[in-house]
Amino acid sequence: MVNNFKKTLSGGAIELGITLESDQLVLLEKYYRMVIETNKSINLTAITDEREFIVKHLIDSLTCLYAIYIKKGARVLDVGTGAGFPGIPLAVGRPDLLLTMVEATEKKVRFLEEVVQELALRNVKILHTRAEDFGRKKAYREKYDIVVSRAVAPLAVLAEYCLPPLRTNGVFISMKGPNTKEEVVAAQNALAVLGGVIKDTIVIRLPYLGDERKLIIISKVRSTPDTYPRRAGIPAKKPL
Ligand code: SAH
Repeated sequence: MVNNFKKTLSGGAIELGITLESDQLVLLEKYYRMVIETNKSINLTAITDEREFIVKHLIDSLTCLYAIYIKKGARVLDVGTGAGFPGIPLAVGRPDLLLTMVEATEKKVRFLEEVVQELALRNVKILHTRAEDFGRKKAYREKYDIVVSRAVAPLAVLAEYCLPPLRTNGVFISMKGPNTKEEVVAAQNALAVLGGVIKDTIVIRLPYLGDERKLIIISKVRSTPDTYPRRAGIPAKKPL
């Protein structure tokens, strides 16, 4: 039986050109139930209504797949994933991708480890770290094909979190709401210093609700100087 949850999710995804198989729908519904259950004890999300969760969390996360072509087996990094957005839906939607998700709050990391185990996601690695510390480690610098991030910081700050781990010619997708003008202007210097160039802004209308989202598509055209990211806390305090 296809229940309401699965119908809403698969129908909404199809509007973005994404087909979810029944096993993927099962996993995403399980994930929803885990978020709602854990949300009773730790604050993961303000969105708990089923349909709203499907659209604003699950489908919104999947818009990354609609926005750009991601090659099979690509290494994808989600910075400041929180309760797992967009990383978990991307890992379920594209099991071929290798997802690394970094998050600074330990409780959220513990929750995500449970999700990975419960959903048996073999393509996901969760790391408890700050983006600044992560980006300074040689093992992670300039290693990712795609970096994604949603609702973590203004673009000028986010660029310093997300561009160091991205390989040259890789793509950074910054997931934003409808109003991006000011933060894009404010990020010009940071992007120039860190090696990023805005290639496109993709406007999305979320299915059912019609809310507008923007995906800022940034190409890395030059290697990031070794001095970035600066130490933890500095990018947010003193944006480039
Ligand atoms: N991306 C998720 C969570 C957004 S809330 C979503 O869209 O729902 C922002 C999250 O980023 C928080 O969980 C916070 O702990 C994390 N975060 C903020 N700054 C960070 C940093 N410098 N490094 C790692 N995680 C960070």
